[in-house]
This record gives sequence, C-alpha cells and structure tokens, in this order.
Amino acid sequence: MSERKTITSTEAVHAGDDKFKAYESVPMPIVQTATYTFADSAEIARYTRGEHSDPERGEYARYGNPTVRSVELRLAALEGTEDAALFASGMAAVTTGLFALVKSGQHIVLFQDCYRRTLEFVKDVLTRFGVAHTLLPAGDVASLPDALRPETRLVLSESPTNPYLSCIDLERVAAACRSRRTVKSMIDATLATPFNCRPTNFGVDLVVHSATKYLAGHNDVMAGVVCGPAGLVSIIRDLRGVLGGVCDPHAAFLVGRGLKTLALRLERQNSTALAVAQWLEKHPKIERVFYPGLASHATHGIARAQMSGFGGVVSFVVRGGLAAASSLVDATRLARIAVSFGGVETLIEQPAVMSYYEMTSEQRQAIGISDGLIRLSVGIEDAGDVIADLQAAL
Ligand code: PLP
Repeated sequence: MSERKTITSTEAVHAGDDKFKAYESVPMPIVQTATYTFADSAEIARYTRGEHSDPERGEYARYGNPTVRSVELRLAALEGTEDAALFASGMAAVTTGLFALVKSGQHIVLFQDCYRRTLEFVKDVLTRFGVAHTLLPAGDVASLPDALRPETRLVLSESPTNPYLSCIDLERVAAACRSRRTVKSMIDATLATPFNCRPTNFGVDLVVHSATKYLAGHNDVMAGVVCGPAGLVSIIRDLRGVLGGVCDPHAAFLVGRGLKTLALRLERQNSTALAVAQWLEKHPKIERVFYPGLASHATHGIARAQMSGFGGVVSFVVRGGLAAASSLVDATRLARIAVSFGGVETLIEQPAVMSYYEMTSEQRQAIGISDGLIRLSVGIEDAGDVIADLQAAL
C-alpha cells in the first residue's frame, strides 16, 4: 500500500476551513444570492480598479460566491494543490478545464478507457475548434513519450478508470509530461478521492473530480472540481465566468458537508468493496472480478504502490451474459438500480443496458464492455448485508 500521505479524517473535517465564519456559524452558511450590493459608486470604482480592501468580495454570482469559495479552498487543501475551482458538474469541470488549457493548433493525449463523455468532448467538440488528440491504448504509458508533440499541451487520464478500475502509473505520466516544459498532466481522480490517492504526490499538475460521486457522497447533488496550481486554476476560473458552469451555493454547501465524512465513508466503502470483491471471486457463477485490491487485477501492483485504499466500486462479469446479468441486477433488494457511484447507498448497474445501451453488443465488445458486466458501487451499509443481497440475488 502506498505510504504517501493521503488525507486523514481530521483533515476531511477541517483542512482549508476557516474556524470563524459569518454569524458565528459553525458550517459555512449558504450565501444564496445572484448578485452583491455596493455602498456607493466610489466603492464600485475601488473594486474595479483592484483597490478594494476585500479583493475577494462578490460582484456577480457567475464570478464567485463565498459558499462556493470555501468549498474550493477545502478541496485544494485536501488535494494538496494551491487552488481549486468548483463547477456545476464533473463534465462542466472537465470541459471548461480543457477549453481553458488548449487552443486551436494544439494537441492533447488521452487514454482509450477515459470517461466516455470526456472522450466524446475531445473527439467531437475540441476537434471542431482545431485541437488535435492522440488516443493511447488503456494504460499504455510506455507509448506516452513518443505521443508527445511540440504542440502537445495536456495529457489526460483517469486513475482508477471506469468500469475496469485500471490504475495508471502516475509517476511515469507526470515524469513524461515534465520532460516537456509545456505539457501539463491532468488526472481524473473521481474514483480514487484524496482519501485513497493524491495524484499531486506523484508530480501530477491538475486533478479533476466529478464531485457528484464520493466527494459529495450522498447521491443527491451534482458538482465538479479542478484542483491545481493557482495560475492555471485562475485561467480556468476566468473561463468558468464566461461559459457559466458555476456551482450553485446550495449544491456547494452539500459538497462541503459531504467532504466532512469523506474519510469515514471511504474507510467503510474500501473495506466493504474489498470483502465483496474477494467473495465474488470465489463464487461459481462469477466469471471475472475487477477490483484493484485483488492480486488478480492487471494493475494491482500499481494500485498498491500509489493507493492507500482501493475504493468502493467493484466490477464483475456474470456467467451467462446479458440475461444472467440482468436477472442478477433485478433480483437485488438492497442495491438500487442506478448509474453513478460513490454515494452512501449501494448502486448496481449493468453498463450494457444502461450507460452503453445505444450500442450493439459488437460495438460494446469493441470497447471492452461485455454484456455480462455489472458495476457495483458499495455504499456505507454493513458489508454482510451487501454480500447477503448479492448472494440471494445470485
Ligand atoms: N469523470 C468520471 C470518472 C465520471 O465517472 C463522471 C461521471 O460519471 C464524470 C467525470 C462526469 O461527472 P458528472 O456526471 O458530475 O458531470
């Protein structure tokens, strides 16, 4: 297991947080406003000249909000970065981040197994704006140095990936990028969380999350975040003010509240998922289990070296294909049938009929999504109950 520092429960509650807040409130209040008032025209003039005594004060909510800002500072502290920008969703964070960091004539490298909407954005949208890309096979870090071009600005990967939970060697990704002064590394660490792995410990420049998942943790809010060096986050935040994917203050409050129990939740989810994965691996009706904490996982060695826990998502293939997997999903009682992951409720989904429903079986096979595949996101229920649910369903 990685010895590098990830976050403690104390840090999840307190890191980056001000002890004293408006109205002597213990949690950061929800500042639900669309705009901010000034005393007079002279104050506006001081503000616009950058001479205001409080340069962080608000002007208009698309440019900033105190509740949002407090969560950004906490997320930056948890990821070990200088700053962070919060967004309305993970995809708002990814798309605004990429738009801010690359322009026409430049080039991005990403891996085949990255989140499908990120891939869609790079392939279908960024190409329309003249940004080229190279798609490397999943986990093929060895090919990364050769894929970098003089015009490459960004290398983007996930770790672990979804749904096969492959971990990429972050140190090698970061080192390849650092060998070229102009190339930044960006890791989507949604599945890891700073409790299990902090990509910046390995030299990664930028970390993105769908905060909808573990960071908020309750399947009840959408948000996203980009964490990184102050200069880059400032460029991304400025573009957020133009593109408009801002996080609502109430959503930000829910993310901030969720963060306080991040370590507690992840501790439980790590141990339950490992127990479920080990149990599934021995079950005769299960063809294959994908969990980075299992010695049988292709990237177990990398996961052990860079993660302090292996996360709450377990993917597995049921013998008997599409119908067998569907009947298992349908027979569960505790697990909720839903896409997404990272919340307190256990969720189960069959990618072939949910996230990848519009593809033919052959198209899914081509991108490695088998018909019998199930993705289980364990919640914080008792491990015995999660296993009993699967046992009864199988
Ligand atoms: N990144 C990963 C790894 C995801 O799984 C997702 C969503 O499932 C996203 C980004 C996008 O996040 P959101 O759904 O919050 O827009």
